[in-house]
Amino acid sequence: MKISTIIFVAIISTVAQGQTVQNILDAAGCNTGLTGGLATQLVNKMNQIKPGFMSSLSGLTRVSLGSATVKVPYAQSQTITAIKNAVAARPGVTLYINSALRTLPQQLLLYRWYLAGKCGITLAAKPGASPHESGYGIDIDDYNGWKPYLQTYGCSWQGTSDVVHFNCPGVALGTTSVLAFQRLWNCNNPTDLLSEDGLYGPQTEARVLRSPANGFAKTC
Ligand SMILES: [Zn+2]
Repeated sequence: MKISTIIFVAIISTVAQGQTVQNILDAAGCNTGLTGGLATQLVNKMNQIKPGFMSSLSGLTRVSLGSATVKVPYAQSQTITAIKNAVAARPGVTLYINSALRTLPQQLLLYRWYLAGKCGITLAAKPGASPHESGYGIDIDDYNGWKPYLQTYGCSWQGTSDVVHFNCPGVALGTTSVLAFQRLWNCNNPTDLLSEDGLYGPQTEARVLRSPANGFAKTC
């Protein structure tokens, strides 16, 4: 995920009640952090399906989170261990993380902005297929400085095609990301049920776009 960090810096505002993911897609802000309410429900749902896999990045020593990440401050637990070890091995330096876990709606927003040539996004994986949705992909500042430390603890650098991106220890949870959404949607929309198959397709995408950015009434 190659994104200029600048797009995450500018706008942090609250989402008006009733705004959908589609409204955010159409807005000018380019900020996936605006789906924080919905995203938090989805992280909790992922942890219901795979207990203990996602943990919080908040409050880690010498780790600073970008504006999108600070609203959805999660990564896979194994990845967080690698981050803690890398930071401990480089005294006095703060690690700036601009992107870590992205829930399904967040990845959809980035992918659609990428397809539209918006928001300075030069590369984005399809929803359901990004290491960020599994919570082991991170985008950071000072990638050259951090590279040897992160590599020591099992994070691999993406290379010149996506210089800010590292894949850290963890397992693929793309299906879990999709399934978490499908279950949350179904619980709140019993007359409009999705197949709970963990597969991303047009039926699921249409419901993601109609979902309330602040989160559903029921956390289920
Ligand atoms: Zn990335």
